[in-house]
Amino acid sequence: MHETMVAQSIIEAITAEAQKQQARPIAARISCGQLNPINEEVLNFAFEAIAKGTVCEGTKLTVVEITLKCTCKKCGRTHGFDIYSPACPGCGSTDFDINPDAPLLLEEIEFE
Ligand SMILES: [Zn+2]
Repeated sequence: MHETMVAQSIIEAITAEAQKQQARPIAARISCGQLNPINEEVLNFAFEAIAKGTVCEGTKLTVVEITLKCTCKKCGRTHGFDIYSPACPGCGSTDFDINPDAPLLLEEIEFE
């Protein structure tokens, strides 16, 4: 499952950082793209299971979803992609390029 792999790599990253900081992590924030969304509930479940007995046990995860962006081919303006009103808010054109989806990112770790 996608979330299990994500949880595994987050734990590795947090553990490495915790060792560096010599502190216990209490919370972490992750961001991901809209096209590759993470189910926060499933992720937390997987995270808790894998984190048991590690320094990450009890760390609270939050997932932030990054909106897909597109760039207008006519005026170059970048705006959030809305499937229901895809027209450019600058010039009204519907001719645009969709930007690459945001990667999965460990944004922030909070330590005790
Ligand atoms: Zn435009």
